[in-house]
Amino acid sequence: MTDMSPSPQEKLRALREHFARQLPEKVAQCERLWTAIFDGSAPKGGAEDLARLFHTLAGSAPSFGFALLGKTAQKAEIMLKTALPLGREALERVKGEISGCIREMKGLSRANSEERIEERSEDLLAVTVAQSAESRGKLIHILDDDPLFCKKLAEQIQCFGYETREFNSRRELLNASWDPFPAAIIIDMIMQEGDFSGAEAVSTIEEHVGKCPPVIFVSRGSSIEARLAAVKAGGEAYFCKPVPISDLVECLDRLTADHHVAPYRILIIDDDVELSAFYALTLQQQGMEVRVLNEPLQVTEHLVNFNPDLILMDMYMPECNGYELARAIRQMEAYVSIPIVFLSSETCIKRQLTAMRMGGDDFLTKPIEPEHLIASVSIRAERMRVIRNFMERDSLTGLYNRSMSDEHLELAVMRARRSGSCLAFAMIDIDHFKKINDTYGHPTGDRVIVTLARLLQQRLRKTDIVGRYGGEEFVVVLPETDVDAAREVLDQIRGSFTLIRHAYAGGEFSVTFSCGIAMFPECGDPAKLSNESDKALYRAKEGGRNRVVVA
Ligand code: GH3
Ligand code: MG
Ligand code: MG
Repeated sequence: MTDMSPSPQEKLRALREHFARQLPEKVAQCERLWTAIFDGSAPKGGAEDLARLFHTLAGSAPSFGFALLGKTAQKAEIMLKTALPLGREALERVKGEISGCIREMKGLSRANSEERIEERSEDLLAVTVAQSAESRGKLIHILDDDPLFCKKLAEQIQCFGYETREFNSRRELLNASWDPFPAAIIIDMIMQEGDFSGAEAVSTIEEHVGKCPPVIFVSRGSSIEARLAAVKAGGEAYFCKPVPISDLVECLDRLTADHHVAPYRILIIDDDVELSAFYALTLQQQGMEVRVLNEPLQVTEHLVNFNPDLILMDMYMPECNGYELARAIRQMEAYVSIPIVFLSSETCIKRQLTAMRMGGDDFLTKPIEPEHLIASVSIRAERMRVIRNFMERDSLTGLYNRSMSDEHLELAVMRARRSGSCLAFAMIDIDHFKKINDTYGHPTGDRVIVTLARLLQQRLRKTDIVGRYGGEEFVVVLPETDVDAAREVLDQIRGSFTLIRHAYAGGEFSVTFSCGIAMFPECGDPAKLSNESDKALYRAKEGGRNRVVVA
């Protein structure tokens, strides 16, 4: 199958061509205004309009391969802005020079775009393609000469959504098909062939297959010799039997994760359609998710829907100033800490400082080198992610904390209402958890909580929201899910959870949970959803626990 949508290269080329086509008309517009100013036919504010036209060209032209034209426009802008407040006479004095600039721009606007820019963009693209390499599958090989252990371990791992293949001897493993190639392999250290036969297996795999996936060793012994052998063989982790399943799965998650973090979301607010599209492409090529807003007054809606990590904002827009807008955004409680980076052809330091005081985090001057833009944006977006993690996540499980879960539920309900779709909200509570703590100790209880958190994350979709409400209570928001689908998926997870064997010093035990589901639009708002799912959960407990009940 071929992907028919244009590649970023093609999009860039199209943008550049579009800009180049429009350029002569833009310069002609400058010329007409300039003539009109002198023959008295210019509309009111015509000179300011002209300054803005110069300003826009100074900021955008270099990004599309017209660097010299951009410089000339900037020169004209500065002269015009200096002369304007001084009146007619001053304007007369710069007439010749500005006319000269416009003439020069006319000539340059017809020239072909400079090759240098073209090459740079291709460089950028090369980086992106390398970064978006396919992530690996989630097949896990298990090698253990104890068939029963092997089978049990496989079942446990499957509960978390992994596929497994079991092997009871090295030969069996080597003769097996390695296509698809496993994302990781779990190897028993002590097998019949000897005390370090697990470590030896790694080198035979490398010989036979050419490469070995990440290795996790499991072993009934924990001698320092065995551990050293594991390290020398390149093992990523070493677990003693009975293997704590939550730790093992966390390790597998880490080893097999698609390593890139969720892409940074950048909101660009700029009235210049082409230039903002250019910036958007530059950032998208780095794997960022970008939304462009050319109408600054719609910002609230985009903040809510897109939830950006950073805002890249133009300074001068027709409806409002960048720094006024920044201030308005900062006055909303949810966005006090969102990074705002100004991007403008404003070169006056004083005005830049004003913008920073009004709530900007940085000031980048147009035209900007793509590398500089990328660096500035990603550094700040990354910092925002770290801060957000502290504020929004539960430290034990990494799930959304209570207030964030509530916030996400509210957003999800708003979205469902707008799109007319349904949504499921579930409350999950571990059964007899107090007894688990009392019997096996609090740390073991913690591990059960983490295991359930991982299970929920593994088995639900990326678009679903999983939060820890507190203690051993979890909430799940399933957008665009009807009641039957919600019941089915949660009941499957319930079933898997009962199969998980939790290890403690003296052996293993299993745990169950109860779940209550409420539906939107049957329950029309978050409070109702919360109430009704809580009641359903109560009924699940009353009815004998280990079950899913729909309100
Ligand atoms: P039920 O089946 O009715 O839900 O019974 P339960 O014992 O699970 O319910 P209850 O709400 O009485 O007990 C919850 C227990 O969870 C009490 C508390 O000590 C424990 N708990 C709360 N937070 C944590 C935590 O972070 N870690 C651990 N290990 N235990 C916790
Ligand atoms: Mg409970
Ligand atoms: Mg409880």
